[in-house]
Amino acid sequence: MAAFQPHMGVDYATMRNEVRGPGRHDAVSRLSPYLRRRLVTEPEVIGAAIAAHGAEPSAKFIQEVLWRGYFKGWLERRPQVWTAYATGLKADLAALSDDPNLTARLAAAETGETGLACFDAWAQELTCTGYLHNHARMWFASIWIFTLGLPWRLGADFFYRHLLDGDPASNTCSWRWVAGLHTRGKPYEARAWNIAQFTGGRFAPLEEDLAQDITGLMDEEPEGLPEVQPLRPVTAPKTGVPTAVLLTEEDCSVGPADLAALDIRVAARLRSSALRSPRPVSAAISAFEEGALADTAMRAAIDTEKRDAGSPEALADWVHAAGASQIALPYVTVGPLADWTAQARPALEARGITVAEWQRDWDALVWPYATAGFFKVKKRLPDILHAAGLT
Ligand SMILES: Cc1cc2nc3c(=O)[nH]c(=O)nc-3n(C[C@H](O)[C@H](O)[C@H](O)COP(=O)(O)OP(=O)(O)OC[C@H]3O[C@@H](n4cnc5c(N)ncnc54)[C@H](O)[C@@H]3O)c2cc1C
Repeated sequence: MAAFQPHMGVDYATMRNEVRGPGRHDAVSRLSPYLRRRLVTEPEVIGAAIAAHGAEPSAKFIQEVLWRGYFKGWLERRPQVWTAYATGLKADLAALSDDPNLTARLAAAETGETGLACFDAWAQELTCTGYLHNHARMWFASIWIFTLGLPWRLGADFFYRHLLDGDPASNTCSWRWVAGLHTRGKPYEARAWNIAQFTGGRFAPLEEDLAQDITGLMDEEPEGLPEVQPLRPVTAPKTGVPTAVLLTEEDCSVGPADLAALDIRVAARLRSSALRSPRPVSAAISAFEEGALADTAMRAAIDTEKRDAGSPEALADWVHAAGASQIALPYVTVGPLADWTAQARPALEARGITVAEWQRDWDALVWPYATAGFFKVKKRLPDILHAAGLT
């Protein structure tokens, strides 16, 4: 963050769309794997931008950071969209066994052997480095869906299994946005001139290599978007109750302040990245998660053991065996870990164990506005920044 701080103002506003290639993405922050896990938080990076440049000159950077909170809040308000993705993905994967042609085309796309040079390079960059520039993600997803005609959920799953910053909200909503499902009827069209311009001519596909006159995938969801749900209530951890603490990669900003008043009987670092997909998740993601959790435990200054998010029922046995009647963890947003903890709840409740969560102020400030398009949240940005003490 400190290294990128001088570039959060006018440099970012003017150059952020340039895709300079692996190892050269210095027009953007590459903070996403850390922001996604809250090893660094949104208020911290926004505060750094304002301190170095002022709010107005760093407006573009601040707005991009706000997109993360917007997508998080949007999926919290429409959890059915995640459930439909997870169910649909299983069906897409099952359908592969009856379709050798689709299986072969999918394999070619994932290994970067389609013959379309830009797309193949990005597939390989993703699997080798765990990162892709935002503009490349947009082009890649558009080509996957509209030029190669591959199912969008398989593309989202490919990203989620390889992106170090893989996030159920940003990833699912962004793929839906490219497909024309998020901003309905407005799919993102990858254009040859745009690729050539913003890759500095490293790639120069022909217009006819790419799908022309695309329409979105609205037929997949003829009924439109589901109703907005109320945000789910949050129970804060209680003091004076024997407690088990669970650290997860959802939020590594847990610190001594969260833990000070609790009667901690046992604590664990929960390894959950394998839950991202029914298919294998990259080893780099698991290694990053392990490092993030170890760092969190060190900063929180508590003894922790390692646990895998295996059988959800075993969680209740672990808490009970430690003599705890409350489990405290940072708020788990909609996604695979929330599905897993939901499965664990009946066994926890049967043993009289309550689940308590820390919710971050930033989320409580942003999510209430994340009910429709990004503009609605962006309009409230001055109030959000003020309420967060950043202006
Ligand atoms: C198809 C597709 C899939 C994506 N999947 C993910 C994902 O799984 N996880 C993820 O964090 N981002 C995802 N993004 C959003 C965006 O591409 C990345 O956040 C960004 O490229 C990360 O690089 P950076 O840290 O250098 O970004 P910077 O440009 O330096 O931005 C700073 C931070 O702002 C946030 N941010 C920036 N742009 C966006 C955006 N469009 N949406 C949400 N947050 C944003 C990120 O936290 C990022 O680290 C996806 C975008 C697309 C088009």
